Amino acid sequence: MKKNILRSIGFVSTIALTVLVTYILLPRPLQVHYHANMAVYIDGKAWDFSKSIYMEEVSRCNVTTDVRPEDRIHLHDNDGNLVHVHVAASTWGDLFSNLGWTFGITHLDPDDGRILISGTGWENLYYFLNGSPEINPWNMEVKSEDRLLIWYGSGSSEEVQKKVNALVPATAHEFNSKADPASCSTNNYGFLSSVAEPIHEWIEHHGAE
Ligand SMILES: [Zn+2]
Ligand SMILES: [Zn+2]
Repeated sequence: MKKNILRSIGFVSTIALTVLVTYILLPRPLQVHYHANMAVYIDGKAWDFSKSIYMEEVSRCNVTTDVRPEDRIHLHDNDGNLVHVHVAASTWGDLFSNLGWTFGITHLDPDDGRILISGTGWENLYYFLNGSPEINPWNMEVKSEDRLLIWYGSGSSEEVQKKVNALVPATAHEFNSKADPASCSTNNYGFLSSVAEPIHEWIEHHGAE
């Protein structure tokens, strides 16, 4: 009799453990959480994206139903240069349209109503992704620790390229490897978060690449 009870307990805990491990290790193709950096310069001046109008509520970080475009990729904590990516395959265009901007090969349209055209007067529009010139990153997927510079102003592409490292912050790596102060990483797994999140984050940052 005792043996049977022990055997049942063993059986039930094996199942429970299997379910738990499967739950944690199950690939979640849509839900991700990593960071990238960006900066926009217009006429030599950094655009201030740290204002509250550009920020997203952390409660929207890991929604799985009624996902709005703003939930996929956004800014938090009045940090205008750190991009939080929550849904896989989000693009730079997704981010900037959430911020009320559009851009293309020859135009940059901030959320103040202006349309800035490249090649008018002395001003040119350049994009640099991870230090290399890009024609138009709008449809490019934002990858972990990417660094995007959008530059509208004077100077040749070569001159601006030399400044990329100084102009775009590189804080994404740090935020990838620590718990988000905005706690926007903690509600993916409900009450299992403290166990599952570190495992899942580790897989995300070390396993996939
Ligand atoms: Zn978030
Ligand atoms: Zn984050």
